[in-house]
Amino acid sequence: MSAAADAFIAQIAARNPGEPEFHQAVREVVECVYPVVEANPAYRKLKILDRLCEPERTITFRVPWVDDKGEVQVNRGYRIEMSSAIGPYKGGLRFHPSVYIGILKFLAFEQVFKNSLTTLPMGGGKGGSDFDPKGKSDNEVMKFCQSFMSELFRHIGANTDVPAGDIGVGGREIGFMFGQYKKLKNEFTGVLTGKGLNWGGSLIRPEATGYGAVYFAQEMLSTRGDSVKGKTATVSGSGNVAQYTVEKLDSLGAKVITLSDSEGTIVDKEGIDAAKLAWVMDLKNVKRGRIKDYVEKYPKAQFLKGKRPWSVPCQLAFPSATQNEINAEDAKALLAGGCYCVSEGANMPTDPAGVDAFRAAKILFGPGKAANAGGVATSGLEMSQNAQHLSWTREEVDSRLHGIMKSIHASCVKHGQEKGHIDYVKGANVAGFIKVADAMVDQGVV
Ligand code: NDP
Repeated sequence: MSAAADAFIAQIAARNPGEPEFHQAVREVVECVYPVVEANPAYRKLKILDRLCEPERTITFRVPWVDDKGEVQVNRGYRIEMSSAIGPYKGGLRFHPSVYIGILKFLAFEQVFKNSLTTLPMGGGKGGSDFDPKGKSDNEVMKFCQSFMSELFRHIGANTDVPAGDIGVGGREIGFMFGQYKKLKNEFTGVLTGKGLNWGGSLIRPEATGYGAVYFAQEMLSTRGDSVKGKTATVSGSGNVAQYTVEKLDSLGAKVITLSDSEGTIVDKEGIDAAKLAWVMDLKNVKRGRIKDYVEKYPKAQFLKGKRPWSVPCQLAFPSATQNEINAEDAKALLAGGCYCVSEGANMPTDPAGVDAFRAAKILFGPGKAANAGGVATSGLEMSQNAQHLSWTREEVDSRLHGIMKSIHASCVKHGQEKGHIDYVKGANVAGFIKVADAMVDQGVV
């Protein structure tokens, strides 16, 4: 990396102290796009990178609510509106105790380039709260969501900013927030995506991120005349993305042998098939249980307490839990176990040293902003259906999702050529960046 790029990153870090995840996300993009910026006088003169690293708007607010015991609780809410260069702000809401501004800025920054890659007109944003839905009653979750939306509603809108789900925000939370928005605004509009099918949601939206990550892996494998069929795969997490990754892999003939949560990993050498997955979905989505319960139901499986899945030998890996869940040691363990294709369902799940290890080994490594873009792409399709007051069939949405993942892969291949090898990290960052940068040049200094 050039000294100028290093100096740029140092300046961003100094300007945003105490936000290591944001620095990490900026570094990864800047490393790849700095040569493009240096070669383009308009990008330099108009300070495109400086402006992209500063959110257009940052909103923080108090979220007070009353729990089931009658006690007042206070959480903090956020929305980062990062870039509207190519469309309304778009990106999920995360409810997790680890949420603070640095996590949301990293996610919003990633979202800008991811949304650009989808080919759809969506800017980038992200939001959420340090509220932990785990262990809360449905009534408490509703009270929190209503209070959260009582402030957020002023800042969002179908043509302004359209939030969706992320960690801790699924169909239940989107429903409570949509209900409150509708009540406050007195309008029924596509202001959130991930809605229920009866009230404006899209078929395939719940499946889209997981399915998309598998479609992206298929595209990467096809460059080597290979496919997921017959392969052994490890998946981390056991939430939305993990569940539909398992479903698609199983249906395409791969064997998935792990799932996890923050307490540990289950390993089922016989494979997690459709029947076992249905049991997991009921456990996680209805009973809101923990993944370790799997081994009571399926005693041949093992529970590795406090462990991640990456020491389990596999050919394909789908990190689908959270950021920085694969470090250098995990990456080495994956490579030693025979893994040659990693498709990131989560956002930034591999830390910089892990990414270096995968890139040095020249394996097929699909970074999150490309591999998990199927979720936001299908949110974009939900917005299109809402705008037309139409609902497309499952086949139509799935086929558009598949087409978008192929097109993202093609963009990565076009911009990621590296001496006979495809560097998907470079390809995704450069392709995502150019579209946004050109729009910013056209729109002047705003
Ligand atoms: P869910 O809340 O449905 O599931 C999250 C899963 O990850 C749970 O199993 C959770 O375990 C685990 N997890 C969360 N935090 C940690 C942690 N600190 N350590 C270990 N495990 C953890 O979220 P999603 O499936 O929606 O999201 C997963 C990832 O995918 C995130 O990185 C998200 O940003 C990304 N993503 C999601 C999209 C979507 O459409 N939903 C779109 C694109 C990316 P536990 O229950 O123990 O917390």
